[in-house]
Amino acid sequence: MKKANGHEIIQLFEQFSPKGLAMEGDKIGLQIGRLNKKIDNVMIALDVLEEVIDEAIERNVQLIIAHHPPIFRSLKNVLTDTVQGRMIEKLLKNDIAVYAAHTNLDVAAGGVNDLLADALGLGNPEVLVPTYETKLKKLVVFTPASHAEEIRKVLGDTGAGFIGNYSHCSFSADGTGRFLPGEKTNPYIGQQGRLESVDEVRIETIVPEHLLKRVVTAMVKAHPYEEVAYDIFPVENKGEVLGLGRIGTVKEMTLGEFAERVKKALEVDKVRVVGDLSSRVKKVAVLGGDGNKYFMSAKFKGADVYITGDIYYHTAHDAMMQGLNMIDPGHNVEKIMKKGLTATLSKMCKESGYEVEIFPSEVNTDPFKFI
Ligand SMILES: [Zn+2]
Repeated sequence: MKKANGHEIIQLFEQFSPKGLAMEGDKIGLQIGRLNKKIDNVMIALDVLEEVIDEAIERNVQLIIAHHPPIFRSLKNVLTDTVQGRMIEKLLKNDIAVYAAHTNLDVAAGGVNDLLADALGLGNPEVLVPTYETKLKKLVVFTPASHAEEIRKVLGDTGAGFIGNYSHCSFSADGTGRFLPGEKTNPYIGQQGRLESVDEVRIETIVPEHLLKRVVTAMVKAHPYEEVAYDIFPVENKGEVLGLGRIGTVKEMTLGEFAERVKKALEVDKVRVVGDLSSRVKKVAVLGGDGNKYFMSAKFKGADVYITGDIYYHTAHDAMMQGLNMIDPGHNVEKIMKKGLTATLSKMCKESGYEVEIFPSEVNTDPFKFI
């Protein structure tokens, strides 16, 4: 086990939740502080409120990863007698960095929307609102036969070769590699000034564009040659579609029964329900956060009920007229990301041999009480 710095942890995190998945204009990434420091403790938070910062200080946290960006509108100044200024001051004085993963974490496979769909027990969940289509590249690498298996493993382990539900897909063909090591070389096989021919394997696979850098870096690291021969080709194949919200099915029940399930699954005391409580529910759409503007996507995709936060009075009326049931468990159910992300990032850090504690913030940031 080794100590990690902030860059290394964020690099891992971005493999899971790449910045490229964020909606245009979103405020994501490192917002406050620095990453070039050793990290012992990372805290996962939904919101960065003053109480959350106090908790971070108390728990000796060097990095907060938050879903809601604490700086959303551009700052004109940082005045330490305002709440926001005081929060920034506290973070900087205590050398606590804040990194935000907002819509990219909503979209990411295993992110907020998948966690919500999982908790609700949706079968065969699909994307509700497509926002991103993965572009694919073909990667071809030439390796001595002795290292072909290791290279194929590294390619697959870092995310290359996914076709549908199959991973580690590749094709290999044997051939002969030829090279003439020049001056100043230190060849793994052969010697300077002598034309060499080696039994090599050509391995080809497919890589999502957003993973290309990580796949190539790992491949080059695992390859024995000083100069690795590889090609990257653009391909026309359509990649996986990612996006906001999920839609799937549950065992048929009434809207009233399903509302009870939502309360339990998302750990809330009350939900607001739009629609006839005795109507039947089977196809369920869910979208974390404020999903008002996507209610027609749920309707078009045949949802019997749409679960989202911050439902407006008029959206509720519109949905009613469209015959779409809605359940609003509150925006705060996105708190599910705290535990989900803690588990995912802990696993990734452990696999990378990083000695770091990752834990969820325990502060309840829901501003609403029902009385
Ligand atoms: Zn949100």
